[in-house]
Parts: sequence; structure tokens; C-alpha cells
Amino acid sequence: MLSVIIPAYNEEENIAPAARAIGAVLRDAEISYELLFVNDGSADESWRVIRTLSETDPAVRGLCFSRNFGKEAAIFAGIAAARGDCCVVIDCDLQHPPEKIVDMYRLWEQGFEVIEGVKASRGKESAGYGLAARVFYRLISKSTGMDLMNASDFRLLDRKAMDSLLSMGEQHAFFRALSSWIGFRTATVEFDVQPRAAGQTKWTTRALVRYALTNITSFTTAPMQLITVMGVITLVVSVIMGVVALWQKFSGVALGGFTTVIILQLFTGSLVMMSLGIIGHYLAKIYDEIKARPRYIISDCCGGKQEDKP
Ligand code: UDP
Ligand code: MG
Repeated sequence: MLSVIIPAYNEEENIAPAARAIGAVLRDAEISYELLFVNDGSADESWRVIRTLSETDPAVRGLCFSRNFGKEAAIFAGIAAARGDCCVVIDCDLQHPPEKIVDMYRLWEQGFEVIEGVKASRGKESAGYGLAARVFYRLISKSTGMDLMNASDFRLLDRKAMDSLLSMGEQHAFFRALSSWIGFRTATVEFDVQPRAAGQTKWTTRALVRYALTNITSFTTAPMQLITVMGVITLVVSVIMGVVALWQKFSGVALGGFTTVIILQLFTGSLVMMSLGIIGHYLAKIYDEIKARPRYIISDCCGGKQEDKP
């Protein structure tokens, strides 16, 4: 059986159409499936819609978070609750074409264990967003050695891959990168990003910047190494300037140079502050990880057999 994991956050208009579209595609292809909606603390009627659906359609199950925990948490909750031999993660807004699930499933039948949906085109985005996304993915691809440039969360995972993802205790799990990092026999399926079916994107610029920062720092310590590099550069500069200053002192032209002192002060000051900030960020992450709070809290669930509630 295939478990289709659908994170939903304020998607009341999209849930029923998504269930219909995905269900129709999978029934046509004669794939047995379950639809697992994870309501990520929506403020709208999403959860009621999911409940109603699960009462009429036995293939629909739902999980409800006690508050908004973010898409990554919703995906992991879905993987944990999935009963299938493989699962596919797909957006609720139909930006990921459901027909591609069938292509992914066929590849899985051929023995592939991780099938990644790769964006052939990025769909409609503003120029600024596109640029920021490219910078972020270039950074993270360079530092992790994985090509995530056109990666998406739309992917199919075999049970083995699901279990290995679940065995990772990370609080800040970055699904897209982790599911490539685990390895396994991997194939890709290209898809075109569709326009959003209804509603608006859940991302604000602030949320995106935070997302980029947490994911970069959860996957690489390169920023900390950068501090070392900057330290070495400033050391070289200070040796040169030190020699110059000494030479000036001994040749009797030591006065003056106030501007240099001010600039150096400000420069080293900001460098030190920035470095502390970066270290602080990692420290905060260690703090978060060590608290080992649950990644999400489930407040309700519906559909499926009642006795094996997750
Ligand atoms: N989503 C979620 N929790 C969040 C934000 C988003 O579960 O905090 C879900 C959302 O309902 C959708 C998917 O993640 O199914 C992708 O979100 P969105 O379409 O807003 O992102 P975009 O496609 O613009 O990257
Ligand atoms: Mg979307």
C-alpha cells in the first residue's frame, strides 16, 4: 500500500479537491493507497474538512497538531503514522501534479527506494524570491555536497528509507536534504510546478529567512569555519599593519593614523560580534536539540481503525 502524506496548513479550500484528484489518479492506476492529511495547526476549517472526508472515504486518515509546528514536522508525523510499504509526500495545494505519483510508484516497483521529484521549471515566482532561493540552494548544495538546486519535498520513500528517517532524533530535520542524505537506490522524476490551486502561500519572507538559516546550520558547520578563515585573514592584515606601524614609529612619523585606528576598531568589533552571533546560533541549536522536546504534538486523529491510533 502507498501512503500519501499531505501536510495542510490553512488549506480548507484545497483539501477536498486534493483528495479527489489524488484518489482518482491512484484508483485509475490501480494502486492501493491511503491519504494521510496532517493538519498543521490550521486556524481555518481544515480539520473539520478532513474529519468529514474521513467519515465518507475510508482511504482518508487525518492527524491534527495541537498548534502549527511547520511543514517538516507535519511530514515526519505523516511518515511515523503511515501504514504503507512506501509513502509519498505531496503538497495540499496541487502544485505537485498527482499523475507523477504513478510514475514514482512504478519506479518504486522496479526496486528504487527513494524517488525524488525534481522541478523542471519553478513555476511562477517573483524575481527576488527566485534569486534568494537560488542563493540558498547554492549554499546548501555546496556545503552538503548534494544537489538540491531543483529538489522539492515531493518524493516517494520506501519503508526502509522511512524507517531510517524516523530513527534520526534531530529536532530540526530538513526533510528534503535528509532524504537524499540517507542514500538508498535513488531515481528522479521531473515535474512542472503548477500554480497554487487556491489560497495563498504560507511563507512570509521572515519565515523563509528563518527556514534558510535553520536548514543551513542544521546541515553544515561551514559558517563556523568561515569565522576561522576570517580570523586568519584579519591576522594577516594585522601583521602587515603592525609592521607598518612599527616602521613608522622607528622612523619618527608615528602620529596621525587616527582614521586607521577607528576603522580597524570598528572592523574587528563587528567581526567579533558576528562571529559570536554565529557561534550563538549553533549554541542555540545545541540547546534546542538537547532539550529533546517532541517535534510535534498530536491532539486528534481521525479515519482508519480506531484501535491503532498513533
Ligand atoms: N504547510 C504546512 N505547515 C506550514 C506551512 C505549510 O503544513 O507551516 C504545507 C501547506 O499546507 C502545503 C505545503 O506545506 O501543503 C506547501 O506550502 P505552500 O504551498 O505554502 O509553500 P510553497 O508551495 O509556496 O513553497
Ligand atoms: Mg505551494
